Amino acid sequence: MEKIIELASLCSKAAKHAQDPYNMGVLEKFNGHAKVTGPCGDTMEFWLDVKNGKIEKISFITDGCTPSLASGSMATCLAQGKTIAEAKAITQKDILRELGGLPEDGEHCALLAANTLKAACENYEKETKTGSAKKTCDTCGDATCSAAKKRKEESPEEFADRRKLQSRLCRIKHKIVVLSGKGGVGKSTVAVNLATELALSGLGVGLLDVDIHGPSIPTMLGLENQTLTGTEEGLMPVSFGMMKIMSIGFMLRNADDAVIWRGPMKMGVIKQFLADVEWGDLDYLIVDAPPGTGDEPLSLCQLIQPLDGAVIVTTPQKVAAVDVRKSISFCRQLQVPVLGVIENMSGFVCPKCGELTQILPSGGGRKISDDMKVPFLGAIPMDPAIAQSGDSGRVFVYHEGANPTAKIMQEIIKQIIKQIGN
Ligand code: ADP
Repeated sequence: MEKIIELASLCSKAAKHAQDPYNMGVLEKFNGHAKVTGPCGDTMEFWLDVKNGKIEKISFITDGCTPSLASGSMATCLAQGKTIAEAKAITQKDILRELGGLPEDGEHCALLAANTLKAACENYEKETKTGSAKKTCDTCGDATCSAAKKRKEESPEEFADRRKLQSRLCRIKHKIVVLSGKGGVGKSTVAVNLATELALSGLGVGLLDVDIHGPSIPTMLGLENQTLTGTEEGLMPVSFGMMKIMSIGFMLRNADDAVIWRGPMKMGVIKQFLADVEWGDLDYLIVDAPPGTGDEPLSLCQLIQPLDGAVIVTTPQKVAAVDVRKSISFCRQLQVPVLGVIENMSGFVCPKCGELTQILPSGGGRKISDDMKVPFLGAIPMDPAIAQSGDSGRVFVYHEGANPTAKIMQEIIKQIIKQIGN
């Protein structure tokens, strides 16, 4: 349990639910169930007994703190007697409103409750095959879709491949690629924190790590020991709270294994990550791209069309500036909107006194953004807390939310989201 929130700090209605939760325990007979772990490490589990289309019985357990108990309890009360569609529509906001609010540190528990309830409803639909029909090219009537017609130059196999890819991608509302001119500048750090902020605001998020030579996302999320499973639907992404994660790192038997692949193999894997992974319906897919402007990021950006935009991460040094210019030109050639440039490791934050010292000349990111007329999203200082979070599998913006550097990151992320919307 990360943060201890005292019962006394809750308003009376929330305190009542936390102290004496309704519907707590395990249902003996159930036809819907889900267990979800939030980014804080708290776990919640829901059981549903659905009869004649309505939730007749519902129960939950949690290993979380008082706001988790209050949120789980309130979610069960709100869902009792409702249809599956109505229960799925219950949001974090509904739970918070009915509880009369929770301390800011505990609001994510209401999100965990809403997400777990939704997952249990989806499990019911899956088990009983009552869910809405999955959108496929054959059931979709969008004649304007690029996959609607076979192109003249395509073989039937190529057409089938393209359709398969398109039918996955069209279930994802927004796609953002995180690019950098070279490795080690903080691209994965930005991707992980951006994806987490989006998931914490209640959105369905996938995070795809296509950094073939340095897949660091499993480590950053503490998922190093995860292996992949497949179903007839495709390769299943690894769940992290309500986020869906896919990384080449899950395919390496040993963290020390190097990926030595020739060009066509790398392209094949990138394509497979997009076309064969059962992402389902997502609001956002955040893609941690291979560094540089070579064949790998090129085929990635060509495959994920249309992309909502690219975030370019750089460091303050002059040599990095050349790479940023290349990355911006790369996006322009591919007609990918540049959402902005982030200058990472810009100055050093002393872990003792918090003072910011400029070690390398800074401001390069802003200058290039101005010169090339793309948004400058902000400068993130070098902060040992970021590196520690990354190494220990704890997402920085979540676990160190009150840290001034986390606030800078959150502001940057807000600007990205503002450009795209929900
Ligand atoms: P890339 O994806 O560009 O290769 P990473 O995001 O993996 O880069 O970052 C490389 C290393 O630098 C990681 O250990 C990460 O935790 C660390 N790091 C990234 N940004 C910062 C920062 N602003 N302050 C301190 N360490 C950072």
